[in-house]
Amino acid sequence: MIKKWVFAFNEGDGKDKKLLGGKGANLCEMTRIGLKVPPGFVITTEACLAVVADPEKKFPPGMMDQVHAGLADVEQKSGRVFGGRTNPLLVSVRSGSAMSMPGMMDTILNLGLNAGTLQGLIAQTGNERFCYDAYRRFIQLFGKVALGIPEAEFDTEFAAVKSKAGAKHDVDLSARDLAAISERFLNVVRRSTGKPFPDKPLEQLEIAIRAVFDSWGGKRAVDYRREFRITPDMANGTAVNVQQMVFGNMGNDSATGVGFTRDPGTGENVMFGEYLVNAQGEDVVAGIRTPKPVAAMADEMPVLYNELLNLRSQLESHYREVQDFEFTIEKGTLYCLQTRNGKMNAHALVRTSVEMANNGLIDKRQALLRIQPEILDQMLFPRLDPKVTKKPIAKGLPASPGVAVGVAVFDADRAEKLGRTGERVILVREETKPEDIHGFFASQGILTSRGGKTSHAAVVARGMGKPCVSGADGIHVDVSMRHARAGDQEFGEGALITIDGTTGAVYLGEVPMIEAEFSPELGTLLSMADEMAKLRVMANADTPDDAQRALKYGAMGIGLCRTERMFNGTERLPIMVEIIIAENQEERQVALDRLLPIQREDFRQIFRIMSPRPVTIRLLDPPIHEFLPSEHLLVEDLDHLHHLREILQGMQVLSDAVTFMNQTRDIHPQVQKFTDPVLVDEAIVKKEAILKKVRALHEVNPMLGHRGVRLGLTFPEIYTMQIRAILEATAECQKAGIEVHPEIMVPQVCTAQELKRVKVWVDSIRTSVEKTYEVKLDFRFGSMLEVVRACMRANHLAEEAEFFSFGTNDLTQAVFSFSREDAENKFLPMYNQSGILQDNPFEVLDVKGVGRLMEEAVKWGRHTRPDMKVGICGEHGGHPASIHFCHRIGLTYVSCSGPRIPIARLAAAQAALLEGEKMADKAV
Ligand code: ADP
Ligand code: MG
Ligand code: MG
Repeated sequence: MIKKWVFAFNEGDGKDKKLLGGKGANLCEMTRIGLKVPPGFVITTEACLAVVADPEKKFPPGMMDQVHAGLADVEQKSGRVFGGRTNPLLVSVRSGSAMSMPGMMDTILNLGLNAGTLQGLIAQTGNERFCYDAYRRFIQLFGKVALGIPEAEFDTEFAAVKSKAGAKHDVDLSARDLAAISERFLNVVRRSTGKPFPDKPLEQLEIAIRAVFDSWGGKRAVDYRREFRITPDMANGTAVNVQQMVFGNMGNDSATGVGFTRDPGTGENVMFGEYLVNAQGEDVVAGIRTPKPVAAMADEMPVLYNELLNLRSQLESHYREVQDFEFTIEKGTLYCLQTRNGKMNAHALVRTSVEMANNGLIDKRQALLRIQPEILDQMLFPRLDPKVTKKPIAKGLPASPGVAVGVAVFDADRAEKLGRTGERVILVREETKPEDIHGFFASQGILTSRGGKTSHAAVVARGMGKPCVSGADGIHVDVSMRHARAGDQEFGEGALITIDGTTGAVYLGEVPMIEAEFSPELGTLLSMADEMAKLRVMANADTPDDAQRALKYGAMGIGLCRTERMFNGTERLPIMVEIIIAENQEERQVALDRLLPIQREDFRQIFRIMSPRPVTIRLLDPPIHEFLPSEHLLVEDLDHLHHLREILQGMQVLSDAVTFMNQTRDIHPQVQKFTDPVLVDEAIVKKEAILKKVRALHEVNPMLGHRGVRLGLTFPEIYTMQIRAILEATAECQKAGIEVHPEIMVPQVCTAQELKRVKVWVDSIRTSVEKTYEVKLDFRFGSMLEVVRACMRANHLAEEAEFFSFGTNDLTQAVFSFSREDAENKFLPMYNQSGILQDNPFEVLDVKGVGRLMEEAVKWGRHTRPDMKVGICGEHGGHPASIHFCHRIGLTYVSCSGPRIPIARLAAAQAALLEGEKMADKAV
């Protein structure tokens, strides 16, 4: 049996985007629910794949027969004839794969025109000018898209006729001018291809279908898929939609436009969009004429405006999602030509989620699942400091919110080159085209002097979450001179500019910005998320300032407080150095006694800020040589000091000589006044002591060396000081009525024996502190799991530890036997590129290896201690896919850096909502 390659719009399954592509599936769906859609059919993505796979690139058997049948069906529904000399049917040929790829593949309009059908069209419409315009557009588009003729060849001819006719705008061209242009265009095709323009409508259709199939493997499409990691199981092949043409350029009762059911920049619940009277769809998208906001239609075409509002609500209540739709009005009849889920920035996504859930259009589950956690990053964007009163040099449309600063660059290739070197770049163009896409990737923001909020630049920038100002027509952009002018202000390539996509303002130079704040809607959404999530989300925070910030992001506690950061303060580091170079225990104790109150005060503040949430403090972890200068530096310093001492000695000699030679000259006191040699000697002694220590502490592989609990057990004074500081701070808080839940965490543990020994200290310090402060202390004692052996012995460790926290950075290094820095700088990029490893395991948790080990460790730990609290700290804790895994193996919490917390909260909710569904990667 021959496969079904073609589905009429009233036949196709509107849910099957993989087979019909997004555009095709939605055309079917809209037809099915009774919206006014011009009739047509979809050729499936399977047909595209069959052509791609065929060595001779032949259409699969039966496909063209089905296309013919499909055409017959459209002829019947439209009452027109394809290729007919009277009442001809014209069609558009549109591409569309399962994933929306704006501007990636080109549409051909008005297909079916030739000298004969043109006469039919003239008879049918009685509008000669319109018909010649349609004809020249078709030849041009078909020539460019299907035959690959450079656009410039047509542009030159067009310009020639325009100037001959003395026309300023395209609309000033007469039917005769347009006929002349069509004639010249036909010649362009003959010249470029060596063959006459294909006349037969069926032949045109075949060529066009083939061109759409080919575009799937074209550079633009391939680049786009690579950048957005669109894999074949997400979208494979493009469908072709063949659809009756309707015309928005048939006079002043015709129009064309695009709409969003809600404002995609702010999320506000108002219809948003733009339209042009008497124009074809491509005019809006290409930014050739600047369109009017859709609200203006209320005055200009009130009846149709109401129909449009009606369409908007039908679309939203059916799809239960913000829709981005295209419409065309032909002589007073409104047609919907496309709908798809609207791409929005994070602000708009969050706001619409909250409002649609409140209206009951969607439920909380959908409200949470429709947002990719990573996108929340955008909401933490900085904005322009409102106190700054700098005047913008121009104002365009606020096309995609956010502020971007960078150097102006006038073409996509340069933008890409500069962007690669790490330069911040703003792409400045008159308008952008799909072939500029690589420039978008490399830029901080996009500025165009033409085009509306639905122009290519605006749509693509919004999709990427990059700031964009479009249609800044006060700026004259001269791409060939790499130069732009706004009034008497100008800037060239490399000049620093600032654009504000939230207001549309453009500034010369860099304008100061302020930190982003949490919007109330985000707060609401994340509280919804917290209700659904099982995982708790903690922060990695080392200082009271960090803790304060983490709370703003909604941290439910601190999962990792690294004490060593506290030692690095300017007044603390010298004490730390004293501790390290101490000759004996007494000396060391003196320094530690100075550090104790400082640490205690840190902890007290953090506890107070986080109360009543838990705070997990990790005892000292890094090898202590990290607190000392490098050997190389010390040797250099000593060299200088020795020199200085010689010079000082020389000066002493000079001074004596002067005294001897001439008692009266007053050079004498000056020489004397100079640096005291004793000071220099002291410095030398100190530096030498440090150098000796640095050499003694030298390790071949410090990350696997004397660090963590191993260090703690060899220098008991350090850990006991830290434990005392924690417990005294706890006691102070408890006495002051502040609820605290500290947790003492031991790093680098590999055997229960290590934990046992630290525990002995903890117990004895607890007894002493409880006695001094007369309180009963409430805290937990636990272990990091970052050594493979510790994971294997989790059941034993759990006898001492009341909680575990996976340190997945060290654990990943251990499981792979990769040293992170060496791996990332040497071979890991190659491993990722060539597919030996799919991801960087230091960024994306390696579920199959490291994850397996974690899963077992959790089981064994809970075997001993069923209510064991288990978490993860480190970068992975803020990565959505890793969070899903943590949920699956039953962790209690994830801990990540402050700004990742909103992302982690949403990901934790999604993990819970998608529990049981296959790996839940839909949402990540
Ligand atoms: P894109 O991927 O650029 O959205 P489309 O297939 O939607 O490509 O088409 C480009 C333009 O042509 C749009 O403005 C669309 O509305 C218009 N268009 C497509 N098909 C038709 C048609 N049958 N009648 C009128 N306009 C059409
Ligand atoms: Mg297109
Ligand atoms: Mg479209």
